Amino acid sequence: MMMYTGKTKNLGVMGWPISHSLSPVLQNAALGRAGLDYAYIAMPVKPEELPRAVEGVRALGFRGVNVTIPHKTAIIPLLDEIDEDARIIGAVNTVVNDGDRLCGYNTDAIGFMEALRETGFEARGKRTAVLGAGGAARAVLWALIKHGAERIAIGVRNPEKAMPVAEFFRKYGSIQVFFWGEDGFCSALKEADLLVNTTPLGMQPHPEGMPPVDLAGLKAGAFVYDIIYTPGETRLLREAAALRHPVLNGEGMLAGQGAEAFRLWTGERADVHLMKRVLRDYLEGRWGAK
Ligand code: NAP
Repeated sequence: MMMYTGKTKNLGVMGWPISHSLSPVLQNAALGRAGLDYAYIAMPVKPEELPRAVEGVRALGFRGVNVTIPHKTAIIPLLDEIDEDARIIGAVNTVVNDGDRLCGYNTDAIGFMEALRETGFEARGKRTAVLGAGGAARAVLWALIKHGAERIAIGVRNPEKAMPVAEFFRKYGSIQVFFWGEDGFCSALKEADLLVNTTPLGMQPHPEGMPPVDLAGLKAGAFVYDIIYTPGETRLLREAAALRHPVLNGEGMLAGQGAEAFRLWTGERADVHLMKRVLRDYLEGRWGAK
């Protein structure tokens, strides 16, 4: 059991609501494994309280915090410095307090790509189809562009809404937006080496859902990555696996973004495999979770 003392350094996650956050489980497991003297807690922060909470991070001398919904963008003007990934993605999920200087990072892109690379898939030169254009998609798009994906087709239900995202990222790479039922997107799917779902379609409590794409139109062997982690196997992944596509769920991304935040705060590498294992155990109720 971890023993906290007067020397223990403090970390936490701010969000509203926060009781479902998995970060305390992931981070405390990894901190305990590494034998580091830190404590990580969940902190409910209402939107209107964010400025006072950020001052609290300074006043209380927290080493850092994670930031989640609804604060990821609103926190940006409250910080002293924003790392390049966070600036481009337009959201901060990790804050490091260096001698009262607060720097904002976004570790989702790293988490997404590390999990993919661990399977042996290299994005460089690959054609990719991305479903959805929300907050998580921005991190996914940036990760793909940074790692040299050749061409990205975004498929969404509402192309007009997704257009500003594509226009922003077009500065960095080749991106097109389609309604996901149109021929152009079906052609992009035929050519894609990687299909990524960033929509919540298929997530609990609606695991019967899935994005309306024709998996039979994917090329043989194309990789299918669903960043959802509840359930561990979405309908999209189940159907893709049945068609013999290699598949990956969002657990590795979640653990990976946490591991990168851990590295930023502590300077040490987290045990990502342990993080993934405790996450699965927790989600499957072996910790008494629902
Ligand atoms: P978001 O900002 O709300 O974006 C969701 C995207 O999905 C938008 O493009 C939205 O389209 C689309 N969408 C939502 N509901 C839809 C529906 N019923 N039919 C068609 N399209 C729909 O959400 P987010 O923060 O990006 O999160 C999306 C998913 O990623 C969630 O399942 C979340 O759990 C997962 N995620 C996983 C990780 C991880 O570490 N593994 C990290 C972050 C997020 P509109 O704009 O038209 O609404």
